[in-house]
Amino acid sequence: MRKSLKPILLVALGGNALIRKGEKGTVNQQFKNLVLPIRQIARLSQDYRIIITHGNGPQVGNLLLQQESCAEVPKLPLEILVAQTQGQIGYMIESTLDSQLMDLGVNVKPLISLITYVVVAENDPAFSDPTKPIGPVYKSKKDAPSGYPLAKTVNGYRRVVVSPKPVTIIEKREIKKLITADFIVICCGGGGIPVVREGRAFQGVDAVIDKDLASARLAEEVGVDIFLVATDVAGVALNYGTVDESFLRHINIQSATQLIAEGHFAAGSMRPKVEAAVQFVRNGGKRAVITSIEAIESAVKGEAGTEIKL
Ligand code: ADP
Ligand code: MG
Repeated sequence: MRKSLKPILLVALGGNALIRKGEKGTVNQQFKNLVLPIRQIARLSQDYRIIITHGNGPQVGNLLLQQESCAEVPKLPLEILVAQTQGQIGYMIESTLDSQLMDLGVNVKPLISLITYVVVAENDPAFSDPTKPIGPVYKSKKDAPSGYPLAKTVNGYRRVVVSPKPVTIIEKREIKKLITADFIVICCGGGGIPVVREGRAFQGVDAVIDKDLASARLAEEVGVDIFLVATDVAGVALNYGTVDESFLRHINIQSATQLIAEGHFAAGSMRPKVEAAVQFVRNGGKRAVITSIEAIESAVKGEAGTEIKL
């Protein structure tokens, strides 16, 4: 008798799963912060097949600063720095997951961190309009190093880089095979390594793809059952950051699309999350939910976060 496969849960972890706002982001802090989301994911892996994707905004921006402070070694383009963050963060997630699974008494569970390429379009208009915040937050413009444009975010100024839309995930078939074999797959880190097609080959481009949009694309391409975005707020709010702020528990894609157009969600932070959820559901996905790192398990049960439905 064929045992039916468990449903697939994709968890997209925000950069704040590793570096909380206001923290310096030492390796110890990052490992410590990961325990909260990863412990929940380890428990969920008993009932779901799991894909974990993750952001890299703070880490990729820090790598850029590190290389700018050393004139002796050749500069690496963003695409290579994204690849580096897939390695460093993949390692941190995988080793934390391994310990959490062992704590649960699960001693044999295959895990894999996969270097992932994501195709973008050469003529994407985003190449002339940098929007993706990376690296540290600066109190004023003059505190920030030169070399990249700055954008004002809710917390202060940050460097911004170009962020083209993900078209397809190159390793989607491999990812599908791995989750079918019940591997927990860590992939699409930092939105994936951005590449354009050149005939049958790929060429890396100097950009950082939004991890929420890349995760939604992967979720569609693999046929995920639940697409969950875990961040540092309880969900999607109207009038965010004002006295009239109110968090939404449910939202349909039509009103979500209208609220995006009305500018309720900041570019480069909440907007791509809502867009990603809408895209997933519009293209046939069953459940999308945006929730906090603390409430991953409750959100899977339908008890927390903002659910985006048809
Ligand atoms: P992540 O690293 O998880 O991707 P981001 O900083 O990119 O996190 O996005 C989450 C942030 O979005 C929140 O910390 C919040 O400051 C911001 N945000 C902007 N608009 C909204 C909104 N309408 N509702 C909730 N959060 C919002
Ligand atoms: Mg983000």
